[in-house]
Amino acid sequence: MSRTALFPGSFDPITIGHFDVITRALPLFDKIVIGVGQNALKTYMFPLEKRIEWIEKAFKNEPKIRVTAYEGLTVNFCATIGAQYLLRGLRNPADFEFEKGVAQANKRLMPEVESVFLLTSAGYSSISSSIVRDIMRNNGDYTSFVPEAVRVK
Ligand code: ADP
Repeated sequence: MSRTALFPGSFDPITIGHFDVITRALPLFDKIVIGVGQNALKTYMFPLEKRIEWIEKAFKNEPKIRVTAYEGLTVNFCATIGAQYLLRGLRNPADFEFEKGVAQANKRLMPEVESVFLLTSAGYSSISSSIVRDIMRNNGDYTSFVPEAVRVK
């Protein structure tokens, strides 16, 4: 059976941290669906279309990757797309504590979906979309924090 993973996130915007985790996960799965969250209760710096466009460009030569928007419960979206795995990255103990709660709730809701975690690579643990947004807002040079495809303008 083909192995499909969902990598859910806000990607506001995608960073080299996300890019690294997704790239390293590629050999583990037949297909990775990058699920770009659209939550009515959250405010985003960039519109959904832009967040998706940047991810698509970043992975334009990778046939195993599909990018799609979703809303609602992540495990329900796993069922919709037939993903058996939920992929997330871990940067630090705060990520671990948060992800543990989410993964345990998801397991209770949908036992057939397994959460899989990749540790951040050395040098990437401090990279987050919120830091990149801060740099962008203050006209700093964000280019080394994001994949080549992400250029505002
Ligand atoms: P969310 O709003 O769901 O946290 P994000 O876009 O911030 O969405 O993150 C999506 C996933 O990417 C999360 O699992 C997060 O831990 C992971 N991630 C983000 N930055 C990094 C990084 N620098 N190294 C490893 N994983 C990361």
